[in-house]
Formats: sequence, structure tokens, C-alpha cells
Amino acid sequence: MGRCKCGATGRRGQLPFVGYHEACGAIKTPYVRKCPQHGQRAVRFPGTASAAELVFYCPECPPGTHLDRGFGASCDCALGGALSFTVHRSGNVFKPRGISMINPPRREVLVQIEQAGGGERALEWMLEGMVGRRLTESAAAQNPTSIRKLLEARGFDEATISAMIAAMPEAAGTGKKSLVLDLELRADAERQAKQVALATFESRIKIADLLARSTADVLRDQYQSDYPRALKRAGIERIELIDKFPVLTAQFGYTRGKSNPGDSRLRTYREKTGEYIVYGDLAQTEALLVKLDPTMILRWLIKRGFVFADVSTGREAAEAILAEMRSMDRPNPLTEQVIELVHSISHAFIKRAAVFAGIERSALSEVVLPAAFSFFVYAAARGDFVLGGLQALFESDLHHLLDGMVDDEHRCALDPGCEDTGGACAVCLHLGEPSCRMFNTRLSRKALAGGLGYFDVTACPS
Ligand SMILES: [Zn+2]
Ligand SMILES: [Zn+2]
Ligand SMILES: [Zn+2]
Ligand SMILES: [Zn+2]
Repeated sequence: MGRCKCGATGRRGQLPFVGYHEACGAIKTPYVRKCPQHGQRAVRFPGTASAAELVFYCPECPPGTHLDRGFGASCDCALGGALSFTVHRSGNVFKPRGISMINPPRREVLVQIEQAGGGERALEWMLEGMVGRRLTESAAAQNPTSIRKLLEARGFDEATISAMIAAMPEAAGTGKKSLVLDLELRADAERQAKQVALATFESRIKIADLLARSTADVLRDQYQSDYPRALKRAGIERIELIDKFPVLTAQFGYTRGKSNPGDSRLRTYREKTGEYIVYGDLAQTEALLVKLDPTMILRWLIKRGFVFADVSTGREAAEAILAEMRSMDRPNPLTEQVIELVHSISHAFIKRAAVFAGIERSALSEVVLPAAFSFFVYAAARGDFVLGGLQALFESDLHHLLDGMVDDEHRCALDPGCEDTGGACAVCLHLGEPSCRMFNTRLSRKALAGGLGYFDVTACPS
């Protein structure tokens, strides 16, 4: 190719830019026309990474003239519109999209939970306080639907099942009046309770287990008094360690351009036949289950202006809240508040857990289950990440973490700006994208502290 007419002696280089169409996901090589007279083109870099500031000129034409500024091109797809140009390694060009879900490593686990009554049983189990080591050790639900499932699983024929159910005494079982929930919310609550049941099915370490296996007085003291006190002050009913947390991470596509859902088109992975492809990675990792105390959530909601009848137990509180909630897809204001609360505490917890556990923050992820008043924090088992950090935190520093979360000033360096725009930003409550599956929405420091915050209620109970 020889030397460039501009006089430079270096080798010709390649521009690191690529054009993409946010609307359709197409990707294009940038094109710059040559000088029609000399057949040449050269570029002047602006000293920034902005493609729009590149100046293209002809090295043989008189100085001061130029061919183009930036790349300009529109997409040839049906949607039309301008291409965006940026450096090809930019996160805007390719953003993988996927989901994480709790997925049992063995199918039998799923079958056992379904046979035991599935989501309905799991919800009952959550409401009763997660009694036993696992769902199937709790008392079985005594209603016709769950008994039918059980009999079907045992191989009884339809006529026998119907006869047996007909012979059941009226209002058999608990005698509690059945909980009336919005149907979609019930589906959410059952699904989320089932996720907890699945995750805790094969491994579950409670604080009581720590106490039972420790002999040192200092530790026993910590588990017997410091931990319960710190949990109570933070309005948390329980924290448990799951050392074999089964999580499936599935990548189903990517987007280009803006990262908020709905702002850009999702491109799914497809076979040539058009069938969808999902790339999955099934891993067992360590996780903490954090469940808020429904009694405290109820008090907090009342402080925020919602009206509830008096309740005397945690179960009653949970039922009262669920009865007023709507589904995750069609939330009412109260549901929004509960989601924001659980999600905000999850982020506040993860930020501190990273410090105490010595884990890079981006290696911790969340599964938020608002209808179970719970969230999981798990360590992403990727790269050369070493497990054990969350376990060490669970065994030694839980009270310090919780006290910190309650007592820290929940301020942001960007206040009052951050405060005025919802009370959550990259400086205070946001987490990196791999950690947060809710795109850092539904977060606010106001849910935690500042007068109407959760910890304002839990740390100084009236
Ligand atoms: Zn020219
Ligand atoms: Zn296009
Ligand atoms: Zn902020
Ligand atoms: Zn999040």
C-alpha cells in the first residue's frame, strides 16, 4: 500500500469503531468515502473516544477542507434510522442478556416438592416459619387439593380419590380460615415460596446449627445473644446459609445500545431453523437467605400510611400484608413499597457483605422474592472465585454487618440531588449490572432510613 500521502511514516492502522442499530441490532463496518479527486482518505483523532468527533480529510486536498465529520449512516432495515458508532469493545455494542434462577441439580428434588404439594405447600411452609430441615419434613397441608395430588402420586385411580376426598370431614386439618389472596399474587407467592423450598432442600444451616456445633463460649455467646439481637434490630426474621445453592444462569440473547429494558431490541440466540437457543450454566455455590420479619414490615407499612387491623403473630402479619398485595406484574402502591423495601435491603446487605466477606461486590448477586419477604445473596461461581466468604461472614460477622446496616448514615455523596430523584444512585445504592437483576430500579434509601425508613421502625420499636 505504500506510504500515506499525508507524509506519515507509520503503518496504516485500523479504526476500532463499529456501527450498530439500536432498533434492530444490526452491526455494520463504518464506511468513509474517499476523496473523489485523489482517491484518498485520512483521519484526525480528536483525543477522545467519541466517533462523532473524528475528522476525515483528504491528505492531498488543500489544508482546511475535510470530507466528513464522524461516520454517518442509516440502517437498511425496515425500521430505518441512524446507526450509532462507537468503539467495538464498548458495553453498548454487545450486552449479554440472561437470567439466573434457582434450579435443583437433581430432578427428584423437584418431583418430591411437587408431590408434597408444590407451591401451595411451600407457601404454607413459609408462613409457618420454615419448620423442619426441609419442606417435606413439615406437616402436610390437609386440604382436598393437596391430598388429591398426594393420592395421584401414589397411583390411586380417580374414582377412589374422589370417594376418599368426599369422605373427608368438613374443614379438616388446621381449622384456620383459608387465606384469600389475589389470584395472580397467590401464584407469585407460591412460586417464590417454592424457590425458597428448592434452594433449602439439600443444604441449610441455621444459626441454631452454628450454636449446636460450637463449643467455645465466645462463639456460643455470639450466636445466642449478639446474633438474635442484631437480627431483631434490623427487622430480620432469619438468615440462613445455603452451602449448595443451585443456580442456573441462562444466556438467551443480547441487546445493543441503551441498557434499560424496553429501550432497545432484544436479539435472541437462534438456530438456523429459527429455534431459540439458551446457553446455560448450572452451578452450586454458596448463598445466604435473608427473610424480613413480617411483623416489622407491617409496622413500617402502617407508619407509611397503610391501614391494617391488629395482628398478634408473624403469620398473621404476613397474611395481612399478602392479602393487600397484588402481583409482581401488576403491583399496587403497597406492593411497590414491599418490593422497594426488600430490594433496597438486599442492596444495602450486598454492599456490606462484599466488605465483610472480602468478595468483590460484582461477584455477589441477588434473587429478590418480595412475596416471600426474602432475598438470596449468592456468590457467582465464575472465574477463579473462591467460595467460603459468605460462610465466614455467616459464622463470624453477621452481627457487625447488621449493626452497620442499621446504624450507618444512609446518606449519599450526591445528596440533595440523589435524594430529590428517588434516593438511589450509582454512588449509594446501585450495584453493578451482573449483581442486580432488576436493573437498579425500585430502590430507595428512604425505604431504609431517614424518618419513614424500615430501620427507623425496627431499631426503636415502640
Ligand atoms: Zn483530495
Ligand atoms: Zn437496522
Ligand atoms: Zn445516591
Ligand atoms: Zn438489585
